[in-house]
Amino acid sequence: MSTEQPNTNSEARLIPPIGGAVRREVGGVSEDIFSAGDAHIKRVVYPAGYKWSTNLKPIVGTELCMHAHVGFLAEGHMRIDYPDGCCIDLIAPQAVIIHPGHDATVIGDETAVLIQFDFDKETVARLNLPLEHEHAQ
Ligand SMILES: [Zn+2]
Repeated sequence: MSTEQPNTNSEARLIPPIGGAVRREVGGVSEDIFSAGDAHIKRVVYPAGYKWSTNLKPIVGTELCMHAHVGFLAEGHMRIDYPDGCCIDLIAPQAVIIHPGHDATVIGDETAVLIQFDFDKETVARLNLPLEHEHAQ
């Protein structure tokens, strides 16, 4: 008797390649990318066990991830660490605004899926976001 269940969970819908998207994989992270004018719409899939400073830092070469991330965490739990010690837990479903200069870790056994909107290196300027993590005085 088979114990296999119909694969109806949201992970099965959110993770396979998206038809028509440009697909990129780096450091265990996959991105399915659509262009929208000057912007991109991306579905970014971070596997369980992912940590930016382990997976991508050796490839990117900066001390921290210097991208801004704006979008919607559709699945999973991610923890953002800023260099001043601030630690932000993002637990799906949740809107996401992450400032440049951070580490990021997938918490738990669940794949994290982020729907991201960006303007590549111009994201901060085009969205008028702070240049880095900061506090109101
Ligand atoms: Zn802080």
